[in-house]
Parts: sequence; C-alpha cells; structure tokens
Amino acid sequence: METTIQDTLTFLGAAGTVTGSKTLLESSGSRILIDCGLFQGLKELRQLNWVNLPISIDSIDVVLLTHAHLDHCGYLPVLAKNGYKGPIHCTQASKELTNIILLDSAKIQEEDAERANTHNYTKHKKAKPLYTVEDVHKTMKLFVTHDYNEWVIHSSEIKFCFRNSGHILGAAMVEIQKNEQKILFSGDLGRAKPLLLYPRKVIKEADVLILESTYGDRIHSEQNAKRELQKVILDTYERKGILMIPTFAVERAQELMFLLHELRNTESIPDIPIYLDSPMGINATNVYDNYPDLHNLSRLVIREMYENVHYISDYEQSRNIVLDSKPKIVLAGSGMLEGGRIIHYLNNHMSSKKNTLLFVGFQGAGTRGRAILEGAREIKFFGQYHTINCEVKSIMGLSGHADQEEIIEWLEGFRKLPQRIFLNHGEPHQRDALRSKINYLFPEIDVVLPQPYIPYPVEETE
Ligand SMILES: [Zn+2]
Repeated sequence: METTIQDTLTFLGAAGTVTGSKTLLESSGSRILIDCGLFQGLKELRQLNWVNLPISIDSIDVVLLTHAHLDHCGYLPVLAKNGYKGPIHCTQASKELTNIILLDSAKIQEEDAERANTHNYTKHKKAKPLYTVEDVHKTMKLFVTHDYNEWVIHSSEIKFCFRNSGHILGAAMVEIQKNEQKILFSGDLGRAKPLLLYPRKVIKEADVLILESTYGDRIHSEQNAKRELQKVILDTYERKGILMIPTFAVERAQELMFLLHELRNTESIPDIPIYLDSPMGINATNVYDNYPDLHNLSRLVIREMYENVHYISDYEQSRNIVLDSKPKIVLAGSGMLEGGRIIHYLNNHMSSKKNTLLFVGFQGAGTRGRAILEGAREIKFFGQYHTINCEVKSIMGLSGHADQEEIIEWLEGFRKLPQRIFLNHGEPHQRDALRSKINYLFPEIDVVLPQPYIPYPVEETE
C-alpha cells in the first residue's frame, strides 16, 4: 500500500542491552509504545532511567505490555507520573504480576532515596525516588486486560493481539496488524518446552519481526535441570550445609518449588526444610494459583508443592532463619543478588565452605551475580567487601528464554518468513551471533541491529 509517511520503529531501550525494553512504533499518525521497561545492572545503564524520553509522554497514544518483568514494565510509573493517561494493554495475569513487581520496585526506590538522604550520599540536593508506591497505584488504573488471541481494535487501520510466548505466566508476543501488514514483537521468547507453561505459539507469518536475542549466542545445557538440582542438594546436605538459591519471584520460584516437590515425592532428596523467603515470591505464587488454564499444574500438584515449602513473609521470622545454621534449602530474592533477603543469607553463610550458592537464572552485566559467575571471590554489600568461600554452582537449564537453537526452531515454523528482523534485547555479542545464524540459514531476511534512539523505517525503502 502507498504511504506518504514511512512507518518507523525507534528503540528507546534494549538495543544492544537486555534491559530498558521500550520500542516506539509510529504508524498512521499513531504512537504505540511496546513495553516500557527499566534499565538495570550497570550504572551507566541505570542512569538512563533518569534521562527524559526523546518524545513527549503525552504524545504516546497507547502502551502494549508483553509481560511483567521489570525490564519490560518497570518504567511505566514514570510515564503515569509525568502525565500519561492512555491505556496500558496486556493480559490479566500480566497485570496482576506487574502490580506486585512495580510495588516492590517503588518500595526499593523509596528506601534507597531515604537511605541516601540519611547517609547524606547526595551532598547538594535531596535524593528522590524515580517513582513512588503512589505512582504505581496511579499506573495500575490505566491497565486494560485481554485474553490471548483476542483482537483489539486500535484505529480504523490498526488492530493488535496478544499471543502466548511461553516465557512467564501471562507473557505474550504482540501482533500488530496494519491493513495488510503484520508487525510482530516477540517480547521475551520462551523455551520450546517450558517446565510449567504451555509452549510459545507458532506464528505462521509476519512481514516484520522484532525479535529478542538474550541467548542469541548460546545453546542451553542438555543436562536435566532436575538431576542437576538433586546433585547440588545431595552434595550440600552431605556437608550439612545450607543451599542458597537466589530466586526470581515470578516463574523461577514456582519452577523450583515444582522440581523440589518432584524430588521429594520420589524420595530423591532427604527431608530437608525448604523456605521461600520472599514476600514477592509468595504473592507471585498466589497469582499462579489464580490461572489454572495458563499452566500445566493440577490443583493436587500445586497443593502438594506448597505443603513442602515454608513461606516466610514476616521479617522477624526471616531473621531467625537467616541466623540459624542448620541444613536447609532457601529460595530468596533477588535473583541477581542486587538486594533483597538473599543478601542476608550470603552475609551469614557465604564464608563457610560447607554451604552452596546456586544460580538458576540469567545474570545481567554489572550485577553481583554476574561477577560471581565470572569468578569474583569477593563481593561488596552493606558497605564492605565479603569473601566467598562457599561452593558456587549454576544450573542454566532452567532459563525462561529460548536459546539460539530454540529461536531458530521457532522461526522455522513460519510459512511466510518476515522480510525484516530487528534484533533487540541482547548484549552486542549475543545479537551478533544470532544475526550471523539467521543470515546463514535465511539469507532472504534483512536483519537489522538497531541502535538506541534512531528511527528505523519498518520496511526497506527502495
Ligand atoms: Zn522477561
């Protein structure tokens, strides 16, 4: 179709990084923002959260949210705080999880600002949080929810629809149909065979694809995550140690509880106390419970799985468990050791050889988790350096992101391949590797590695 003004895509985040996901589609006079995430990890990235967007916030017509992870939703309250009054569309499960995650994020930011002011880190002016709990309440009022596969009319030319992406509960790809043209945003693409969720939808056709590339350079371990977990548990138990697992509240906590339940049920591990010391993890698990149609766990399994785990939300209770040095398994946030209760466990138990620190998820650049995985034997928290003497292990088989093979396998499901693929949400070597692979296998596709803040034409111009 003849258009006078070219449709454009501008990557306001997650271009060459894995956080701050925000993609602006300008089409037929509409400004559609897909995801609105927070930058995390390295300080120079986090500082971007304080830089104004290059467009005026009230010129955004609509926000489409793929899923509830902070790097996709964590900047929404800044929008609401600065006057955005339009709708934020997503699935109902995403809305519930986003509420939990944003409230936690606001609380951390309020506490950080308060601490900075108390300790006078900022000498000249008062530190302010990026947003507050109040801003989150304002944000949540803008949400409009939909089922998977339900078409939503945006204008006479544009409609959109959420498709299961198999990444976390409620997570979706966004399909945008403009007249005859289809633009597909993969969001975070799930595994070919997720542990608890239904696999990502096979899409048959799209003209343009915006594809994540978090694991664009990697193939996940073939090893069985359950067996690996069993081995780490038995080794730690033999040393009478504590197994500390930094756990993401959404999906990973529920997957671990499920695996622990299976190991327990088959007597593959001894009867060790298991704690979920994470109020956010407990809240997210309750949301899981509300959506039996979105995962493959039966009511019975869910009940049994909960019975094996002690939920700790109370702070005093948490402190008692932290101080106790008896063998146990602890699941606590945050998943990349950027804060939360897991730090207290590290503070008390990381110095002993009998204990184990086990990573079960992606560790972003600039995080304490990444530093340890890359060999650091000392990390800084509570204002001082601490030596790591405990065992450090990792199981990568539990990732929520498709690896290179799984991304390619999903692309092979297309009957009509996209003419153009924009690779976002990956560090430079990850998206480079994925581009090479796609170029090799599908030479007819134009693969673009977008740079932040530059508007790209959706279609190639002659
Ligand atoms: Zn995600």
